[in-house]
Amino acid sequence: MILSVGLVLGRRTLIVELLAPFVDEAGRVLPAGRHEISAPLALRPVDPERAAFAIPDVTIGIGFHWQREERQVFRGALRVVADHGLVAINDVPLDEYVTSVISSEMSASCPLELLKAHAVISRSWLLHPRSRPAGWGQGDAESRLPGEVIRWYGREAHRLFDVCADDHCQRYQGITKSCSPAATRAVAETAGELLLFEGRVCDARFSKCCGGVSERYRSAWDDRDVPYLTPVYDGPPPVPAFEATGWILGNPPAYCNTQDRALLAQLLPGFDQETRDFYRWTAVLTGEEVRRHLSEKLDVDLGVVRALEPLERGASGRIVRLRITGDAGMLVVGKELEIRRALAPTHLLSSAFVVEEVAGRFTLRGAGWGHGVGLCQIGAAVMATQGHDYRAILAHYYPGTTLGSAP
Ligand SMILES: [Zn+2]
Ligand SMILES: [Zn+2]
Repeated sequence: MILSVGLVLGRRTLIVELLAPFVDEAGRVLPAGRHEISAPLALRPVDPERAAFAIPDVTIGIGFHWQREERQVFRGALRVVADHGLVAINDVPLDEYVTSVISSEMSASCPLELLKAHAVISRSWLLHPRSRPAGWGQGDAESRLPGEVIRWYGREAHRLFDVCADDHCQRYQGITKSCSPAATRAVAETAGELLLFEGRVCDARFSKCCGGVSERYRSAWDDRDVPYLTPVYDGPPPVPAFEATGWILGNPPAYCNTQDRALLAQLLPGFDQETRDFYRWTAVLTGEEVRRHLSEKLDVDLGVVRALEPLERGASGRIVRLRITGDAGMLVVGKELEIRRALAPTHLLSSAFVVEEVAGRFTLRGAGWGHGVGLCQIGAAVMATQGHDYRAILAHYYPGTTLGSAP
C-alpha cells in the first residue's frame, strides 16, 4: 500500500535536491543534485532502496508559534502537481510512514505489544478517509445558538493526497530520520493489518489517558454514534459503579491509574513526562482569569466570572456543555476541546472536571488527559506490561472490531 503525503503547497517554483538519480515519466534520468522545478512532473528513484530527495524549505508548524522552515529528507517517489501553484507529493510505502510516525510518537523502550497496537491504529487512521461513507461530517463545525458556542475540530480530508506533513495531520519529517528498531519490528510483525468494523477501516482515535472510562465519539466531534468508539471501562472486570462526580473525585482502579515512574519514563517521550498527574489533577483559576481567557480565546467579555456549571457530561465524565456566568453575561461553551481551550492559557488536560468555587476562586478537580475517545495510550501501555498482546489491547478499546487487511 502506498500513502501519498503532501509536502509543500502553492509554490511558483520548487527547489529539490536529489540525493541519487531519479527518472521521470518519459524515462529521462535526472542526476543527483539541485533542481529547480517549475512545472508538474513525476519522479521515481532509479534505485528505490537507496534513493532519497530533500526539500530545503518545508514550512512546518503552520499557524503555530513554532512555525519555521526546515530542510527535510524523504524517500520514495516525488510527484509535483499544479493546483493553485505547485504541490509536492511524496508517495511512500504506508508501512515506512507508520514506522516513522510511531518512532516519533512513542519511546523506543515501550513494550512491543503497545507499539504493535499503535502500528495498527496509525495505519487505520491514515486509511480511514479512503473507506468512509459519503456524507460523514469530519471537518470543523460550529453550532451557534444565541448564548452558545458549541465547536469541534474535525479532520478535514485533503483532496490531492492522504495526509499532509504538518501538525494538521501528523508531523512527518521524512523517513530517513530516527526510525527505531522496536518500531520497525512492531510494523513488520503487524504488516498490512488494519482495524475493521463491518468491512470498513476504522476511524481509530486515541488519546493519552481516558481517566478510567473512555468517552463517546459524539462528546468530542459531530453528533453521530460510532459503534466502536463507545464507553469502555479501562480495567479488568468487575466494572465499578460510575457516577461522574464521585468518579472524578475518587481514585478508582484502572489500567491508566498508574504511578509507576519507571514505567512512565519508559512509555512517554521526555517532554511528556513533565505532565505527571494525568489520572487525577487539579487546576485553580480566578473569575478574572476566566474572563481574560474567554476574551482572548472566544472574543467575548462576560465580566468577572462567578459560576461554571456543567450542563451535560459524556460517559467518561467529560463536560460536553458548560455554562459560564459572569457579571456581564452568560455563555454556554462546548464541546470538550473548546471547554479546555476556553478556560486555560493553553488547554486544560481534559474537560472531565468537578468545579468548587470559594470566594471567587475556582478549583477544578479533573480526570484524564485528552479527549478520551478510543484507545487510552497509558492504559494500553500498562496492559502490554501486564502481558496482554496487541490483539487483546485493540479488542478492549475498540469493541466489536476485527483485524484484517484492506477491504
Ligand atoms: Zn493535514
Ligand atoms: Zn485509560
